[in-house]
Amino acid sequence: MTQIPFDKRDGKIWLNGEIIEWRDAKTHILTHALHYGSSVFEGIRIYDGKPFKLHEHLVRLKHSAEVLGLNIDYTLEELGEIATKQIELNGISNGYMRPFAWRGPEEMLIGGQKCTTNIAIAVWKTFEESRSKLREDGIRLTISNWIKPQKGSSPYTAKAACIYTIATMVKNEASLQDFDDAIMLDEKKNITEASTSNIFFVKNNELHTPYPDCFLNGITRQTVIALASQNDIKVYERFINQDEIESFDAAFLTGTAIEIMPIKCIVDKEFETTNELIKFISSEYSKLV
Ligand code: PMP
Repeated sequence: MTQIPFDKRDGKIWLNGEIIEWRDAKTHILTHALHYGSSVFEGIRIYDGKPFKLHEHLVRLKHSAEVLGLNIDYTLEELGEIATKQIELNGISNGYMRPFAWRGPEEMLIGGQKCTTNIAIAVWKTFEESRSKLREDGIRLTISNWIKPQKGSSPYTAKAACIYTIATMVKNEASLQDFDDAIMLDEKKNITEASTSNIFFVKNNELHTPYPDCFLNGITRQTVIALASQNDIKVYERFINQDEIESFDAAFLTGTAIEIMPIKCIVDKEFETTNELIKFISSEYSKLV
C-alpha cells in the first residue's frame, strides 16, 4: 500500500490553541527547530478510541520541553482534554497520536531564547498488518557502528528531535545490511537500545534489561517491568555487555509503536521467538491496551 504523504492528508490538527484543517498546518522554513532540532515530541497509541498511557506520555512531553528550555503553557489536564478531543474530532478508533512542541521563527541564533514555543497535536489512523508478520517471525537486528552518546553528552531523558538524527542513521545503516534494525552499544560495549525501542533478554525464565543511564526509559519498558513484578517474574536492570548476547535464550524489543516485538537474531545469534515468557508478557500487554 502506498503511503499518502503526511501533508496531503485530511483531518483536523490542534495548533497553538486552535483547531485547523490538516493541510493548513504549515510553518515557515526559517523556524529554529528545523535548523537546530529544538523540538520535543510524543508518540501515543490509540486503541479502541482511547489513548494508552496518555498521562505518562504528557508528563514526559512536559519533562522533555523543560530539559530543552521550551515553555509549554498548558497544564497536563488541558493537554489531556485537547488530546482526547482530537481523537473524537478525527474519528480515530485505532491510531497514533503525535503531540509536539518546538521553537518558532522569531530568531535564528542558536540560543533561540526569543523564539516562542509552538505546540500541536495530530492524530491519524494506523494499520497493523505489516507488523503482525514481523511479530510472528521476529525482528532481525544487527549491532550499529554508531556509539550511544554517554550520559552527559545528550539530553537522553527527553524525547527530543536531536536524539533521532542518530536513530535515523542507525536504522538506515541496518537496512543497508538487510537487517530490520540495530542495537547501539555504549563506549564500554554495553547494550543500550535499538533505534526507537528498548530491549529485554530472557534467561531461565527471568528478564534482563539494560540500565537506562544514557537512553530513554520507555513507557512500554516500565509497563513490562511492572507486569513482571505483578507476576513474580524477576527483572534484572543492569549493565549488559555485548559478550553476554550469546548466553540468552530469547529477547524482545519494547516501544509504543512496536509493543512487544520478539527478536529473531542479533547478527548471527538466533533466539527462540516462541519463548513462553515472551508469549506471557505479550498477552498481558495486549490485555492492558
Ligand atoms: N527509545 C527510543 C529512542 C524511542 O524513540 C522509544 C519510542 N518512544 C523508546 C525507546 C520506547 O519508548 P516508549 O515505550 O515510551 O514508546
